[in-house]
Amino acid sequence: MSFFTHLECSVPCGAPTLDPSQRHHLCACGAPLLARYDLAAARSWSRDSLVGRDPNMWRYRELMPLFDGEAPVTLGEGFTPLFHARALGATLGLNRLFIKDESLNPTNSFKARGQSAAITRAKYLGARTIALPTAGNAGNAAAAYSAAAGLSCEVFIPGDAKRAFIDECRLYGANVTLVDGLITDAGRTAAERGAPLGWYDVSTLKEPYRIEGKKTMAYELAEQMDWRWPDWIVYPTGGGTGMVGMWKAFDEIERIGWIDPGRRPRMVSVQAENCAPIVRAFQLGAEKAQPWEAASTLADGLRVPRAIGDFLILRAIRESGGTALSVSDPSMVDGMLAIGAYEGVSAAPEGGAAFVAIQRLAADGSIRPDDSVVLFNTGGALKYLDVLSHHAAAT
Ligand SMILES: *Cc1c(COP(=O)(O)O)cnc(C)c1O
Repeated sequence: MSFFTHLECSVPCGAPTLDPSQRHHLCACGAPLLARYDLAAARSWSRDSLVGRDPNMWRYRELMPLFDGEAPVTLGEGFTPLFHARALGATLGLNRLFIKDESLNPTNSFKARGQSAAITRAKYLGARTIALPTAGNAGNAAAAYSAAAGLSCEVFIPGDAKRAFIDECRLYGANVTLVDGLITDAGRTAAERGAPLGWYDVSTLKEPYRIEGKKTMAYELAEQMDWRWPDWIVYPTGGGTGMVGMWKAFDEIERIGWIDPGRRPRMVSVQAENCAPIVRAFQLGAEKAQPWEAASTLADGLRVPRAIGDFLILRAIRESGGTALSVSDPSMVDGMLAIGAYEGVSAAPEGGAAFVAIQRLAADGSIRPDDSVVLFNTGGALKYLDVLSHHAAAT
């Protein structure tokens, strides 16, 4: 059974709560909606019940958006390994560096978690066609889970996106439309085409359930670290569903009594030098982020000039005592190569960026040698082999 009860505005703006047996995308005020649970009743749910459950994100189904007896659309996403990166940590003088390897999800990125949850709900709600704008990985995951659910999928992707992303959408039977411009332009086209046709939009934070999939990263961290939080979580941030989802999970986990309230991990948001709206807003002390002009980076997942959940990301960073920093494209490639060479892990540029951020925070003394640090490797390197060839050619 699940303690899922209703949907609520993330601000919150005071609008009435919404019934999750109906389709809802954004709150009437334009802000993202969040799934809510009966957390008081969920205190009866014991973490001991997790023992022996399937190693995927639906092992936390009591606090997932599912109705009683409902089967999720799953390809085995989640419960990715968390391992102690001793050799890589030693290069920075860190004794407790861990990698949460999200590249091992279906379609090679943590986007699988969000789409598994979103498409599970879309199917229940009677959707026939899933639609979304994407920088790459979200489209691959949406295409795969749509196929698994028996639904059609319409992907809108910037025309200059990598071939690998476009071809992989088609591999899972999706219809791909190439759009002039960035993911924000692709979003506009997807909405215009889809609205009259009743397509179910699974854009980042424009439906309430991708966050619920992403929040399971925090449930897994808690379980894998034996119910203690790490000191730092370092997370490459684009649309921010991971940051927002994990922050929501900390709250739920405390309220059901699985970890005592108190010090949560410091959340570090990592962006690209030429697309860093959250970093700029953090440094300015702003509550919301201004759109970034002429955004460009080889880390496709970070090429998000404007995040609809900006205020939620900034809240999580500030309330956790964390920080936000941006790294250059060439340094991300160095990061990929370091993670690969020292740990044998296949990292996307986004994972490389997280490593560079840790390097910088260790060098300036913010992260101390015995702090526990979790590097989120949000995707794998295989869709970026062109980047590595260019780098090799240039050095
Ligand atoms: C989408 C993506 C990100 C950004 O994730 P958000 O949770 O939307 O901020 C980071 N890394 C990779 C590999 C991605 O595909």
